Parts: sequence; structure tokens; C-alpha cells
Amino acid sequence: MKTRLIVTTALALMTMSTFAQNNDGRIPAKGFAVFEEKGNFKPYEFTRHAVGDKDIQIEILYAGICHSDLHHVFADWGAEEYPMVPGHEIAGRVVAVGKNVTRFKVGDYAGIGCMIGSCRHCEACEHDLEQYCEEGAVMTYHGIDRFNGNEHTQGGYSDTYVVAEDFAIRIPENADITKVAPLLCAGITSYSPIMQAGVESGDKVGIAGFGGLGHMGVQYAVSLGAEVTVFDISEDKREDALRMGATHYVNVNNPDELKGLDRTFDFILSTIPAKYEPVMYLKMLKLDGQLGIVGLPAFRNMPLLSVAELVMPGARRKVFGSQIGGIKETQEMLDYSVEHNIYPEVEVIKADGAKIDDAYRNVLDGKVKFRYVIDMKTMK
Ligand code: NDP
Ligand code: ZN
Repeated sequence: MKTRLIVTTALALMTMSTFAQNNDGRIPAKGFAVFEEKGNFKPYEFTRHAVGDKDIQIEILYAGICHSDLHHVFADWGAEEYPMVPGHEIAGRVVAVGKNVTRFKVGDYAGIGCMIGSCRHCEACEHDLEQYCEEGAVMTYHGIDRFNGNEHTQGGYSDTYVVAEDFAIRIPENADITKVAPLLCAGITSYSPIMQAGVESGDKVGIAGFGGLGHMGVQYAVSLGAEVTVFDISEDKREDALRMGATHYVNVNNPDELKGLDRTFDFILSTIPAKYEPVMYLKMLKLDGQLGIVGLPAFRNMPLLSVAELVMPGARRKVFGSQIGGIKETQEMLDYSVEHNIYPEVEVIKADGAKIDDAYRNVLDGKVKFRYVIDMKTMK
């Protein structure tokens, strides 16, 4: 028999795992992959590296579907390698820990976001900004894990993941686990630039793009006491924005609603995943206002910003881009979210290839409110 069940402590590994382990220690995993850039999810079996002394193994309970997954699957940002198991919003339970693990024990909840490794000694890593590691962060999927035999990483639309404990996020036991997964990307990616911009009570904040990231941004900005305006392209989400605490909703396809907004915002966060005109938002900033950009459209649709727009209109404005958040800040965001009862609004779907394909279509068509989460325990 190629695999054996782990029933007791093996190789100094604490485990309650019912997951099999190959003779070489590798962990068989199964999930859903695409095999070409057209999408079309099919069941896929693969293996993950053995649980090292400082690693934990997670049984994945929920995996969020981020718009970045769509960008990767459809090769919007350049060539990709297939088969690809996407998924970088992962919430689950620890089923095994290596002998030197100190922050987790078997049975704890744990989460994984967009990255699973970095050099840990460059300037960025030393400042808890591992996502900007000078030697390159190892991504949760579509990555090459140079710390584990250069294996090709596969993501969270699967049953289990093995990760260094330093790159796992602790999830409190009182968290609403069905909704936690999207915090690991959508949550931190909107939280971090709001904190970088120093948003505070009374600030006028705009959130452009009211989807997975945007609806988290609204909740964080509202929780800080900001007066929030949402910008999106449809009428469908107007009521939702107001329900989440925004005071204004602007359908950018209706020119009348854009009147009078120039020079009125302290901070605008753009989460837009499609072609748009950033200068429209730039002009809405007050003196020293800031535009934070996290949305990253396909290369063929990438918006351009002229330096003239920063210098000439007469109001100093700052533009910055931001990528997810470091592990320390991700933990801070998660604790803040649970404490303030800030969660994504999720539609839970079964772990089924056709259902994931449907979900992808709906994300593209603007038909999701607000994040799909795959219930991985329903995988057959
Ligand atoms: P979603 O699809 O969930 O949300 C995007 C929202 O933007 C939708 O509500 C969409 O409307 C709206 N929108 C589309 N075009 C416009 C427009 N021209 N003006 C205003 N709103 C618009 O995507 P996510 O929130 O998951 O991701 C958003 C982007 O952020 C993606 O490009 C993703 O890759 C990127 N991202 C970046 C990260 C980073 O670290 N910087 C991390 C994670 C994601 P509708 O639904 O009607 O189409
Ligand atoms: Zn994401």
C-alpha cells in the first residue's frame, strides 16, 4: 500500500490527522484545478510537502474566491502554469503540528492568506512587510516554494495545506468560521491601505469598486468613524452600501451623481478590477488627499496615470499602491475584525467544479454579494 494512516504521534509530529501520508512523508491532497486558461474546474489530486518541525498542517474548511483567482486562471497578468489550484483565502483547523511549533496546537483554527514564505532577513521582512520581500515572497499558489524543494504551490480550493507556522494566522475560536476566509485577502488588502492612509474619525473616504475588497473597506472605514462614499457601476448594490454604513452611493455610470465631488475626499481606495480612469478619483481629493490603489486589472486593461495630473491641477495629491499586508498586520486585521464583528457577506457554495465555474461567471457579471466561499468539507 502506497499510503498509511497516521493514528499516533509519528516522527515527533503531533497529529489528529485522518489524512494519509505517503512513504516519503508527503501529504496527498485533492481539490479543484484548471488545466488551461479558459477555466473549467475539474477534480485534481496532488501532494504537499511533509510537515516539517516548524510547520502545521491544516484541514481546509472554507476557501474564498478572490477576483485575483480569476485574473490568474485567465492569465490576465501574463503566462501561468497549469494545472492550477487557486485559493489564497483559507480557513481551517490544525490537524498536525511539527515538534518545534509553538503558536498552534492540534484542533486550533488557522488561516492562510496570499503568501506562505519569504527570506525573513531583508529590510522588508525585518519590517514585517514580507509581501515585499526583496528575494520574493512565496505565493500560496502559482508560486515556487524555494524553502521546500522548489515545489509548485497549489492553493486553497483543496482539502489540506501544509504551511510554516510563522505564515499562518491564528483565528480565535469565537470567530464566525464560515466567513473568516475572505479576511485573509479581501480583509487585509483593504484594511492595510486604510491604516497606511491614517484614516480617522470624520474623514471623508471613498471606496471605488464595491465587491469583495470594497465591501470590507467600507466596513473598516465606517468602524473608524469615517464618512464613506461608495463608487460602483450598478444600481444593484446601492441599498447594501447604505446598510453597511456608507452615507452616499455613486453610480459612476450616472454623470449627474459625480457632480460636485471634486476636492472633497481625504482618502479614496480603488479596488476596481477593470479599465477605469484614475484621474477622475484623483480630482476628487482635497489638498494632500491620498489615492490608495489595490485593484489590479488585466494588463490589457491597465489604467494609466499622467504625472501632469499630480502636479498641475494645483492640489498636492498622493497616490500609492498596496499589496495585501504583512503577517503581523494580517493578524492585527483578523483580531480587529473579530472584535468589531466585521465580516464579509458570503455566499457559501458546494465544493464542485461546475459550481466554481458558475461562481467565476457570476463574479465577472457582477452577480455576487459579496464573496463566494467554497465549503471544502462538501468535496466528494
Ligand atoms: P470583485 O469582483 O469582488 O469586486 C470588484 C468591484 O468593482 C465589483 O463590485 C465591480 O462591479 C466593481 N467595478 C468594476 N468596474 C468598475 C468601475 N469602472 N468603477 C467602479 N467599480 C467598478 O473583485 P475583488 O474585490 O475580489 O478584487 C478587486 C481587485 O483587487 C482585483 O483586480 C484583484 O485582483 C485585486 N486585488 C488586489 C490585491 C492586492 O494585494 N493589491 C489583493 C486582492 C485583490 P460589478 O460587480 O458590477 O462588476
Ligand atoms: Zn485575493
